[in-house]
Amino acid sequence: MIGGDKNGVCTEESHFEREALEYPLGKKLFGYFKDKGTETSFTSSHNRVTGISGKTRAEGYFEGKRTLVVGVRRIMTFEKCRPSAHFQLPLATSCPGKCKYCYLMTNLGKKPYLRVYVNVEEILSSTRGYIEKRIPGITVFEGAATSDPLPVVDEESRTFKFGQFGYGKYVYARELYQEINAYFAGLVKEFLPGAQIEYLV
Ligand code: SF4
Repeated sequence: MIGGDKNGVCTEESHFEREALEYPLGKKLFGYFKDKGTETSFTSSHNRVTGISGKTRAEGYFEGKRTLVVGVRRIMTFEKCRPSAHFQLPLATSCPGKCKYCYLMTNLGKKPYLRVYVNVEEILSSTRGYIEKRIPGITVFEGAATSDPLPVVDEESRTFKFGQFGYGKYVYARELYQEINAYFAGLVKEFLPGAQIEYLV
C-alpha cells in the first residue's frame, strides 16, 4: 500500500513553496529530496499545485498520492472537529495512504496530493489562544483530522491486517498495542474503579 524508505518518506515528486526554505524543516526536506534524486520543483502556493500527471481519475489519484508539497501554513484558524476533539490541528493535509474506507477520499479533489507545513512551531503556538479561551476546561486537538501520522512511520515497523469486510488497514504492532493496553488499563483502574474494558481498538 504505502512504500517508504528508512525515514518513512515515500514520494516520487516534490514541490516547494520558496518561503518554506526560510524554515529549518523546509531546508532539511529540500536537501533530503535533492540528495535522493526526487524530482523537485517550486510552486507559488501549496493550495494550487498544477502539473501532477494522470489522465484518468484513477491515475490522477495515484499520482496525487505520490506527490509531496512542502509549504507554509498561513491560515491559523482551526476548524471545529466534533465529536473526536474541539479543534483540528492542521500539521499536514492528505496522506500517501490509500485506505479504501478513508473519509479524506471524498474531500481532497481528484489529485489528493500530500501537503506538509514547515512552520510547525507557529501552528502549535496558535493553539494557545484556543486553549486560553476554554480555561478552566481542557481543549482537545485532533492531529489526524486532515491527514494521518501513521503513513510517515517506517513501513517495516507497522502491522497490516485485513478486516472482516475485506478491506485492509494498519494496526498497532503487538508491543505497542500491549503498551497502550496497559496504559489505558491503568487509567481505567485509577479513575473508574470496578469498570471493565470490553475491548480496545
Ligand atoms: S492512513 Fe488514514 S488518512 Fe491515510 S488513507 Fe488511510 S485512513 Fe486515510
